[in-house]
Amino acid sequence: MSERSESTTGRAAAPKATAESEVVEICRDLIRIDTSNYGDGSGPGERKAAEYVAEQLAEFGLEPQIFESAKGRASTVVRIEGEDRSRPGLLIHGHTDVVPANAADWTYDPFAGEIADGCVWGRGAVDMKDMDAMTLAVVRDRLRTGRKPPRDLVLAFLADEEAGGTYGARFLVDRHPGLFEGVTEAIGEVGGFSFTVNDRARLYLIETAEKGMHWMRLTVEGRAGHGSMENDDNAITELCEAVARLGRHQFPLRITKTVRAFLDELSDALGVELDPENMDETLRVLGGIAKMIGTTLRNTAQPTMLGAGYKVNVIPGQATAHVDGRFLPGYEEEFLAELDSVLGPRVKRESVHSDKAIETSFDGALVEAMQTALRAEDPIARAVPYCLSGGTDAKSFQDLGIRCFGFAPLQLPPELDFAGMFHGVDERVPVAGLEFGVRVLDRFIDAC
Ligand SMILES: [Zn+2]
Repeated sequence: MSERSESTTGRAAAPKATAESEVVEICRDLIRIDTSNYGDGSGPGERKAAEYVAEQLAEFGLEPQIFESAKGRASTVVRIEGEDRSRPGLLIHGHTDVVPANAADWTYDPFAGEIADGCVWGRGAVDMKDMDAMTLAVVRDRLRTGRKPPRDLVLAFLADEEAGGTYGARFLVDRHPGLFEGVTEAIGEVGGFSFTVNDRARLYLIETAEKGMHWMRLTVEGRAGHGSMENDDNAITELCEAVARLGRHQFPLRITKTVRAFLDELSDALGVELDPENMDETLRVLGGIAKMIGTTLRNTAQPTMLGAGYKVNVIPGQATAHVDGRFLPGYEEEFLAELDSVLGPRVKRESVHSDKAIETSFDGALVEAMQTALRAEDPIARAVPYCLSGGTDAKSFQDLGIRCFGFAPLQLPPELDFAGMFHGVDERVPVAGLEFGVRVLDRFIDAC
């Protein structure tokens, strides 16, 4: 229960609920609601999670709305009035769906929300039921103690992020844009987590940019015929050569302003000059998060699927491949031109799915508020911008002119492979990290 029980029998009063005391249980509750998103509509959907979130908010008098975009695909949105309603609003968004988990691979049941070794274990522990829980715990505490945010907050708990957001963020932005009226800035995933450089500096990576994507189908048409005959126009041979060229191709180093700022901060914290031309050395310094940073230094295109043929003695007339392409903010045209020149004239390239890259500058009052809130809880904290190699719901909100940041504050033990937690086996979040997160988030809201 959330209320203090005033005892008249001389027993000690029950401890008063706080954000720190609630966050872990809320996170466990959310993990126990299976919201696996298979990307084909076959999962359980997010309806139960949306209802749970709405109950948590309604308990303190808010009137959250649940929006169902398709059967079971539900998102919850609520607006909290701020002190100064003339100021633009701030959006705090999180997704409630998770990628599937194969229980047999895990130490603990991925949907049990076990606590072990100081961590909450389960699918969604870092992506991103942790932030959903932190947001709920902080907002509940502020409502319980009558502390209004300085400006309007819009909270959005969204379906379908893991499959592109069609049934979540994209649906709300296209069909219910009025929910975000007057909102100019947003925080969400993937950022705010710590990277301990040494005992004098801990970087907190704030996401200010995201790579864009081009998922493509490549097709080569050739001359069909009998496998025993000569054929100098074999579609498989032509396609495989092109795919192999692409797979081995390294796109040139492109240091965007976000990556430049990140490297500057890192070299300052390390007290050494980092040479962008020698990134191998820099990436070594970064340990586990190198795999998040390494791919933000250049465009990439990875062949992921191949298809051709139906019988061993028949040369097919067509061969296809699929490629997952990712481009840096500002480099989409260069990416596509380079791609075509590597593939050559025989390959027809079609888009399967694409989404834009986004980038905002690392400055302004909101960034100050992040910096201040982190510093208050961690004296060696230093907020730095970084570019995410993947995509999030931020891409949808950017269409409404909202400046998006990845800021879901977490202090992590240096030995935890945080990047490996995302969609990984044994995903888990430190309890102390969640408690740190709610303190920072609460201070951040005070200062926003
Ligand atoms: Zn996520």
